[in-house]
Amino acid sequence: MSKSCTCKKYSALKLTRDEISIRIKDSRKIKKHLIIKSKSDKGHHLYVCEICQQLWQLSSAWNWGGKDYLFKIPEIEIEDWNLEPFISPADLVIFSASMESYFEKNKLVDSENDCKREECDKKAILKDVLCKTHFIESLQRFGLLPKSPDGKIFEPYTYNVK
Ligand SMILES: [Zn+2]
Ligand SMILES: [Zn+2]
Repeated sequence: MSKSCTCKKYSALKLTRDEISIRIKDSRKIKKHLIIKSKSDKGHHLYVCEICQQLWQLSSAWNWGGKDYLFKIPEIEIEDWNLEPFISPADLVIFSASMESYFEKNKLVDSENDCKREECDKKAILKDVLCKTHFIESLQRFGLLPKSPDGKIFEPYTYNVK
């Protein structure tokens, strides 16, 4: 048995579909030296590398046929992870893609009016009474835009709702 692991070889995922597909394929190899530490009720798994102690999370990539893939995560107490696992980069890829295609078709431009939502000091967008943030929130509530993905956001992953 080899005493070295391949953790160092894998960097953070770029948020593209291809990158997720490649990682799905690589995950079987990556898993070789990983030991399971915990499972969340939503099906995420927490792993640690027995050689270098790197933490990994396994999640399902729903838009890739629900296939599992692994990605590195920062140090975390198991109890904290159990409460809220990390966000799945594959969810971010899909979320950003849907958001982008929406914003390509719909330009949200600020108006002179204040957002109608209490305690909000932003400007409402043209042809609506809400600011961008609250307008997007209401579209998400009605299922017209995807919900922001669940999970702890962590470096270097980000997403912005414009
Ligand atoms: Zn390792
Ligand atoms: Zn607002």
